[in-house]
Order: sequence, then structure tokens, then C-alpha cells
Amino acid sequence: MKILSINAGSSSLKFSLFNMKDESVIASGIFERIGIDGSYTIKFNGEKIKEDAKLDTHVDAVNILLEKLISLKIVESLDEIEGVGHRVVQGKDIFDKSVIVDEEVMKKLESIKSFAPLHNPANMLGIEAFMKSLPHAKNTVVFDTAFHQTMNKETYLYPVPYEWYEKYGIRKYGAHGTSHRYIAETLEKKLNTNKFKLISCHIGNGASITAIKDGKCIDTSMGFTPLAGVMMGTRSGDIDPSLLPPVMEAENKDINQIINDLNKHSGILGLSGISSDMRDLTEAYNQGNERAILTMNKYARRITDYIAQYYVLLEGADNIVFTAGIGENSFIVRKLVCDNLKCLGVKIDDEKNKNCHGEALISTDNSKVKVYVIPTNEELMIARDTLELIK
Ligand code: AMP
Repeated sequence: MKILSINAGSSSLKFSLFNMKDESVIASGIFERIGIDGSYTIKFNGEKIKEDAKLDTHVDAVNILLEKLISLKIVESLDEIEGVGHRVVQGKDIFDKSVIVDEEVMKKLESIKSFAPLHNPANMLGIEAFMKSLPHAKNTVVFDTAFHQTMNKETYLYPVPYEWYEKYGIRKYGAHGTSHRYIAETLEKKLNTNKFKLISCHIGNGASITAIKDGKCIDTSMGFTPLAGVMMGTRSGDIDPSLLPPVMEAENKDINQIINDLNKHSGILGLSGISSDMRDLTEAYNQGNERAILTMNKYARRITDYIAQYYVLLEGADNIVFTAGIGENSFIVRKLVCDNLKCLGVKIDDEKNKNCHGEALISTDNSKVKVYVIPTNEELMIARDTLELIK
């Protein structure tokens, strides 16, 4: 069976087509600048094609994708694609697992649109486009928030007036749930059990740390929105909200502009003044740039803060996993974080850490906590959920 995994943004649509027999990727790519001018890239069979195309709407992108899958002989017939899984950023407390799309689900998605105004409406455009252009296939929705629905009330409530939660749904929802679940399930397969305590560190441009016990999320660092938690590429993570009014006044900014500063001009970019990209920061760090050193140490410190918090919450941890762009590729960040955790008995093997490619155990034999690097695969998780729901 073939399944499409879709991540639709406001002006883009990323796809991966899986053969679920062996979970191999048959083709993948991205449609970009939808509603502006339009271009697409499709990778298949070791080839890559990149072309301009008129993409007025997401339906245009989907129609070209389907037409290309046939003309490039990636599939013989569109009937081979039996399921389409869609990433949806926010499921609130309405969705605690992936579901097949029907009218009721679309209504519920509509009702929670305002909780992720930049993402959910775009995700819905993707669903609507496939419903129209590939009517025989079943569509499913896989939520970034669903895995975190097992957090208890004490964890997900903020210490603010309780009515804010009751009236406006103000609480922690988390994000990156599909990635953290993939990590927990990959480790479960490796260890042949889910009876373990895991701290999963998804650190890419966005970053979140999650405490997982027996396969369930206990706590996570992102909050009401993905702005909370550790510092990220351009996001501040947790800050004292009282720092906002003096800056707003001094810079004559309104609340949306200042939140935009916290989302787009803070984190690694804001503190270093160099770049939001860890590769650029690392280069400056290695050259001895003072701001880069400060930023790198602060970055590692914020991740350490959450790992330490979750270590206590879980009453010890069996495993720490690093994943996503920085977690998978930056041995310096992994080293700085793990060195900060020495007092917990965390020890990594410097050679294994430096030379690891793909999945690897990087802790020493006598480390009290096993430390792994596991590449995440949210697209595959979406495809797996879709297969499970439609078969
Ligand atoms: P993601 O959002 O998961 O795609 O991760 C993007 C982040 O991963 C960016 O900050 C990249 O600089 C970082 N990254 C990717 N490759 C490397 C690498 N080889 N070394 C250090 N950081 C990397």
C-alpha cells in the first residue's frame, strides 16, 4: 500500500510518498510559493526535478503533484495511493490521537483554527485539496499536540486565573509530539519494552524537551504555543513577560510586533547577533567569537535546565535521546549539555559522540543514563498512523 504524508504550510506543501510494505520513500518533495508565483521540487529514484509552475492555490499544487506522480512513472495509477496523512499543528484537548477525516473532524478543526492561526488553516487547505483531487483516498490528521494529551492537570495548567483555562482554553498543549512519539517508539523497538523513563530532546530550529514514562508524555517544554520552553533558533523560549512593556514603549511597538520579535528575532539569532543557524554559530564559536561562546553556553544551559527538571520529575531517567537538526548533527551541543549533566552520572564517549552518524549510543558503559542519537522521522510516523487507521 502507498501512503502520502503531507505537511501543508500557508504557502508551501511538503510531501513524502511511502511504500508501506518496507516503509521506503518512493518520492518526496516540496511545492513552494503557493499563491505567489510557484515552483516545485520532486525527488525520486535518485533524481531531482525542480520547475516553476503557476500555483494559485493548494489545489493547483496537489493537481500537479498527482499528475507528476503518473507522468514520471512514480506510480502506475493514483488508485495505488490509498491514504493521505496530514500533519496538523494544533489539536487542542479535542484530539488525543490521529483520526480519519470526516465532516465532523473538519468541523472540529474549524472550531480550533484560532489556536494556531498561522498553521491550522494552512493544514486544512491541504486536506481540502486532497479531498477534492484524490477522492478515493482516505485522509487522516496527525496532530503535533496529541502525544502530549497524557500530561496531567497539575502539569498543563499555568498558575494564572483558573477562569482563563475554563473560558479561553489557556493551558500547555506542547508541540513536536509526532517526533517525540517516534523517538519513544523507536527506542521501544530497540529495547523490546516501553517500560523506561526517557527524556527526548528534539532540538532543531524549533526545540522541545519531553519527559516520557512507559511510552506516555509526562511533561513537555513547549506551552500554549511553540514559543515556550528552551531557547531556539529565533525563538526566545520562556521569559519574564514583564520585560515586554518597557521595550514596547521604548521601541513604540504593539503586542503583535513584540511577540514577533520573540518568535523571529530572539534565541540563537537574537543573542549572538550572528545567525539562527547552528552551523554558523558553531563556526563563530570555534573561532573564539565571544558572543557566539556566550550564546552556545546559554543554549546548552537552557536544554540542561529542562533535562534536569525532568530527571527529577521522572525520579531518574534511563535514557536521554538527542534528535532533529541540531540534536542529530551537533556533537558540540551534545557534549556541552552532557557535560552539564555530569553530576547526574551522565557520561558520554567523546569519540562516539564526535563520530556518530545516524542512530548511535554515545554514552560510556558506566554512564548512569544511556544517551542516544536517533534521527527523527515525523513523515514516517504520519504514514504509519495513516496505515493503522485505514487498513
Ligand atoms: P531542523 O529544524 O530539525 O531542520 O534543524 C535545523 C538546525 O539544525 C539548524 O540550526 C542547522 O544549523 C542545524 N544543523 C543541521 N546540520 C547541522 C550540522 N551538521 N551541524 C550543526 N548543526 C546542524
